[in-house]
Amino acid sequence: MAKKKKRRRVNVARLLILVLCFLLIIGLAVYGIKKIFFKPEETVVQEEKNSNADTNVEKIIEAGFNEEQAKELISLSNYWPDRLDRYVSYYNGDMKQSVMDVNCDMDLEPYQQTTIAKDDDDPAYLVNKFYALEDGYVPDDLVDLDTFACVQGQDYACQDIIQLRKEAYDAYIEWCKAAQKENLEIRAISGYRTYEYQKGLWDHNASVYGQEYADAYYARPGQSEHNTGLAVDITFNGYNFNEIENYDGYEWILENAHKYGFILRYPEDKTDVTRYGYESWHFRYVGKEVAEKIYKNNWTLEEYYGAKEA
Ligand SMILES: [Zn+2]
Repeated sequence: MAKKKKRRRVNVARLLILVLCFLLIIGLAVYGIKKIFFKPEETVVQEEKNSNADTNVEKIIEAGFNEEQAKELISLSNYWPDRLDRYVSYYNGDMKQSVMDVNCDMDLEPYQQTTIAKDDDDPAYLVNKFYALEDGYVPDDLVDLDTFACVQGQDYACQDIIQLRKEAYDAYIEWCKAAQKENLEIRAISGYRTYEYQKGLWDHNASVYGQEYADAYYARPGQSEHNTGLAVDITFNGYNFNEIENYDGYEWILENAHKYGFILRYPEDKTDVTRYGYESWHFRYVGKEVAEKIYKNNWTLEEYYGAKEA
């Protein structure tokens, strides 16, 4: 009996070893087949990316950059492939800056190329000398301002009524209330302007001071931010609007505008980007989130878009 039991135990052990060996062989075979025939997903994606990058580098070299420049260009998140030729002809030795400049249309002459600007309910949309509103555009949610200032002379007549789009209006009122606590009485001197009004303003300045002056300080009809209903010209405490930067309190207005969604649209040190002379009085509503980004990066609205991915 004892012998039989022992033999049975030995047989069971052998069988177990056999089964284990069999499983091991199967396992190794499956692993090997997988390794040979199925590449892990990540590797495939990576290889695709690399081959894309290679073709892109080739394209960029074909367009006129050398390999090093091409690689630098491709590494920039705000590289817009459809502007490749413009990067090549504008390139000034600094790839990062060149890309930003071209994305901001600094390689073009004002009015050389015009794209239609659409609001799409995004208060930050771009209207400038390259992005024009559709002819006859009228915002559909204009609100009348209760208080505003009349400025005589200085090319500004007294407007009967000043309007902003609802969202900009609410933010503007919030901004004014906060300013009031600092003893600053902000007053709007201009808000929404119609196409016809802008045309009259531009024509008048062009005939009196010449086209160059008119273009430096006044948008052509359809290309004024005032036509959007999202821009407001302000003064405070009764000062001349075009001297407000010289008075105590302006600093507060400037440093706090973004908290209410406004940006100084034509800063003194960015005239080459905006293509407008310095306007200490002209503020544009872009929404709080965008305004904060622009403020923190010391951008203009053009640069905010210029930094974006294609
Ligand atoms: Zn203005």
